[in-house]
Formats: sequence, structure tokens, C-alpha cells
Amino acid sequence: MKALILEDYTHLVHKDVPEPIVKAEEVLVEVRACGICGSDVHGWDGSTGRRIPPIIMGHEAAGIIAGVGNQVKGWHTGDRVTFDSTIYCGKCHYCRRGQINLCDHRRVLGVSCDEYRQHGAFAEYVAIPQHILYRLPDDLSFEQAAMVEALSIACHAVGRTPIALNDTAVVVGAGMIGLLVIQSLRAAGCGRIFAVDRATDRLELACRLGADEGLNPDSDQVLARVLEGTENQGADIAFEVVGITPTLKLAIECLRKGGSLTLIGNLSPETEFPLQRVVTRELSLYASCASSGEYPACLDLMARGAINVDSLISAVAPLSEGALWFQRLCDGEPGLLKVILNP
Ligand SMILES: [Zn+2]
Ligand SMILES: [Zn+2]
Repeated sequence: MKALILEDYTHLVHKDVPEPIVKAEEVLVEVRACGICGSDVHGWDGSTGRRIPPIIMGHEAAGIIAGVGNQVKGWHTGDRVTFDSTIYCGKCHYCRRGQINLCDHRRVLGVSCDEYRQHGAFAEYVAIPQHILYRLPDDLSFEQAAMVEALSIACHAVGRTPIALNDTAVVVGAGMIGLLVIQSLRAAGCGRIFAVDRATDRLELACRLGADEGLNPDSDQVLARVLEGTENQGADIAFEVVGITPTLKLAIECLRKGGSLTLIGNLSPETEFPLQRVVTRELSLYASCASSGEYPACLDLMARGAINVDSLISAVAPLSEGALWFQRLCDGEPGLLKVILNP
């Protein structure tokens, strides 16, 4: 089969490799769409150390079952499916609590690190354990389905946050995940939503997708605008979707006393933390990592059009052009959000 292999950092090659061997409890998926994740780009250049070559990356995919192992039940050749980016064990302390994102034996598709190497879906075929498969609604395209992983991250974060009807929210960072958080907040019954970002085009898109106001910290008085919109109290909830000191501080500043902050971004391994502001105003902090069980809800939200992912897909290109698109994403081309590759 053809696959896109990271042979060395920043060096992707589209070439023939052996098809994966399907184990008893696995299915062979013919990949029809696979999104390039930010984490793939940061692995491609070696900056995270989570894509040690050689590796077939790709964990945001959808396709058709092309073969089943002899212990597989309920799945058949021809089924349209997507799958969790994380292979969880189902047996450890955390899996048994339903916190599969915290599994002790977690392996992410398309990741190679010191502990494991798990080839992903930038290939014609990928072998997937049956317990992480999800069936696609009929009216969802493969490209839309490839967005489910990103959406599940947003929905998990929104699910972690205590939200009351008509709450005011501030979302700091309007990239892919931030834009999906905004839409999920809208679906969850939030009232006024402020989007904060330095890119004007992203703020415009945020407002088209459900934010009431887009604020640019370079030109707008973000805190003043939030206070104006909340009778001087501050927002009920905030989401930090960047992960650096200035955005963390801004998200904290925008909250009312007793408000809640959910942390998704983690660009910096460490940041400054305004301890007294958080303690004396009794803020609640929630960290949110990946997702645990949100896929069916996300697939349904997309199929019903309650969440719009089409406007987040910038390009759909053949897998053979993968190297070019990784370079363009790494260069930070303006306006480029999700790029999906078709094997
Ligand atoms: Zn991803
Ligand atoms: Zn586990």
C-alpha cells in the first residue's frame, strides 16, 4: 500500500510499504480522509519528540472497513467508520472509571515516542482495534468525520466546565480547537460569548460560528469589553486555548469572582500563575486533555448541523501532496486551518 512516512524530521516520503497485519480483535480500515493535526506538525519538525522517525503519522481519520479479524463482533466489511485517536486498554484503574483519556497504557495512533511506536492513518490502510471504532451517520462525509477528534477535544473541555444556561464565556485563542469550543458552548446553552485572538480572520470566523464579539488584545481593551458586557462582574467561565503566560493571565482576569477556567492549551511546559488572584476570588480551574467518550455525541452534532466543521476545512488534498501541506502548515500560512489528506 502507499503511505506517507516520516523518514527523518521534516522529511516525508509517499511510498510503498507492507499492509498492516490485522490481529484477531482488529479491523482493517481503508482510509478515505485523514486530517493533519497541529501535533503532527510539531512532531514532524522534531520539536515535541513524539514522532520519532520512521513513523506513519495521522490520528484524525475516517474510512471503510476492508477486513475484520476473527474475534471481531458487530463490524463488517463495507461499514463506514471513524475511530478514537487513542487506543486505551480498557482494564486499568482509569479505564475502569471511564477516564479512558488517562489510561495507564494509552497509545496514540500515528505517534512514536520512547515508550511505543503506533503507525497511523496517513496510508491507504490502517489496523484498528474494534473497541475504538464508531459508526458514521449516513449523511456525514469522510472529511467531516475526520474532524471528530478535534471536536471531541472541545466537547470534553466544555463537558468538564460547570455551565449554567445563559452563562457568559470568554474563549482565549480562536484556532481550530477554540473555534470548536465556541460552537460547543453555543450548543451547551451559553449566552454571550467573547472570542479573543490576534488574527482578525479568525475572529471574523469565530463570530460567524457563534461568538458575539471578537476581541484582539493588540487593539481592543479585552478586559474592559468583557466587564462592559457583564455589568462589571466578569465572565462566568473562560477557556484558555493557547497555553502561554499572557493568555493564561488574561483568561483569569476576565472571570468574575467564583468563575471557572478550563485549560486546554499547553504550548509552554510552564507558565507564571497569578496565585493570589485565583485564590482570593475563589476561581475553579479545570484541566482538559483529549476526550473520553464524546465521539458519538460529536458525530451526531455534526450530522445534525448543530456544529459546523465545513468552514474549518481549508483544503482537501491527495496524500501524495502531504509533504507540501506539512510545510505550508509549519510556515503558518494565514487562513490555513484544517488540511485533510485523501489516500
Ligand atoms: Zn489531533
Ligand atoms: Zn487503561
